[in-house]
Amino acid sequence: MRVMVIGSGGREHALVDALLRSASVSSVLAVPGNAGIAASSTPQKPVRCLDYALEPQALVELARQESVDFTVVGPEAPLVAGVVDAFETAGEPIFGPTRAAARLEGSKRWSKSFMARHGIPTARFAAFGDEAEALAYLENHPLPIVVKDSGLAAGKGVTLAASLEEARAAVRAIFTQPQPEVVIEEFMRGMEVTVLAFCDGERAALMPASQDHKTAYDGDVGPMTGGMGVICPFPLEADTLERVQREIVLPTLAGMRAEGHPYRGVLYAGLMLTDEGPKVVEFNARFGDPEAEAVLPLLEGDLLEVLRACAAGRLDPQTVRFAAQASAVVIMAAPGYPGSYPRGIPLELPELPGGVRIFHAGTALEGGKLVSAGGRVLAVQATGETLPAALEAAYAAVDRVGFEGAHWRRDIGGRLPHLRRL
Ligand code: ATP
Repeated sequence: MRVMVIGSGGREHALVDALLRSASVSSVLAVPGNAGIAASSTPQKPVRCLDYALEPQALVELARQESVDFTVVGPEAPLVAGVVDAFETAGEPIFGPTRAAARLEGSKRWSKSFMARHGIPTARFAAFGDEAEALAYLENHPLPIVVKDSGLAAGKGVTLAASLEEARAAVRAIFTQPQPEVVIEEFMRGMEVTVLAFCDGERAALMPASQDHKTAYDGDVGPMTGGMGVICPFPLEADTLERVQREIVLPTLAGMRAEGHPYRGVLYAGLMLTDEGPKVVEFNARFGDPEAEAVLPLLEGDLLEVLRACAAGRLDPQTVRFAAQASAVVIMAAPGYPGSYPRGIPLELPELPGGVRIFHAGTALEGGKLVSAGGRVLAVQATGETLPAALEAAYAAVDRVGFEGAHWRRDIGGRLPHLRRL
């Protein structure tokens, strides 16, 4: 089958890497893809990257022109723009939630209200479209308090406010934008983990839990980024995944079905492991980036078949299996990221030992030479028998990458005492 993958980051590179292991995949078209995705082409399974408008109807036309059999959507923006709706209307097979289902990610207000309607555990909240009402609400709320922009803000729309002044400033900043909407939440304490699930509208197959590291610097300080590194599986108490399935994922699928928007795609549950059990921090409507780069290398079996079964509403969760191994990802970022950063830095990649992969997050070819083209540049991933072994191998590979001014966190996994390296 000819598969089209939409997106250009490390997540999409990991998706292409896993799809190329599927027996039924004959070729891949990545739109727009990146230099690493293009380099995974072989004569047996050609991979082509194409710069193209990420607009739903244009992508349907492209899929037809290119005789694509199945399309996989990586990032959230095309989902929220309705790419899955356009493909379904045109009768073109695609993996991902419809625009209405992707509201679980696209609107925090909608998502929080949905969770409240269906009794899904999450932080208590209130939502406001009026600045004065939002400011008044803050006055009677205990601190710390969480202020969020309801729309998509690429991780930059959230303030964890320790003081009332900070909370007020965050509310005021949101109300300087067009069509402002603010969500104000109770602050939850606990360890944060991600659980991804393949969903077919009714059934779900949970992937192993993972943990991202979102701030820029060691010790969980500095500005928020798109994610700086991941460990997988995150060691959970024995019944936690089962609770996540029973209390969060399945009620979400049942609620979406009951409201007329069956959820097919990957459901990303960002969770806080609180004293009262797992609670939802946020839902996303797709694989996480960089979680995908850590989780997908552990997938055994045929990714394309799993995605097609989800899209067709016939997923058998028993067929989704993961290796009993561990995986670690370290993100190498451009100097200055997540602030302003240069592009075009020459990159030299080492020969990789078995079990190590370098997924390209922001790269390009310039005059035949590999250069950086984004803030997060490379996702260095290693698989090992244990988490310490995977981390060791990932950091050994990072040390051998030639990349002027690169910065990366040296404490991935370090929230767990036995994985602390610093
Ligand atoms: P954006 O919409 O801007 O892309 P996001 O979707 O990443 O942002 P969230 O995941 O909701 O936003 O919040 C970002 C981070 O803030 C979370 O990963 C978590 O660490 C913290 N956070 C969010 N809500 C809460 C909460 N209620 N209690 C404690 N921490 C929270």
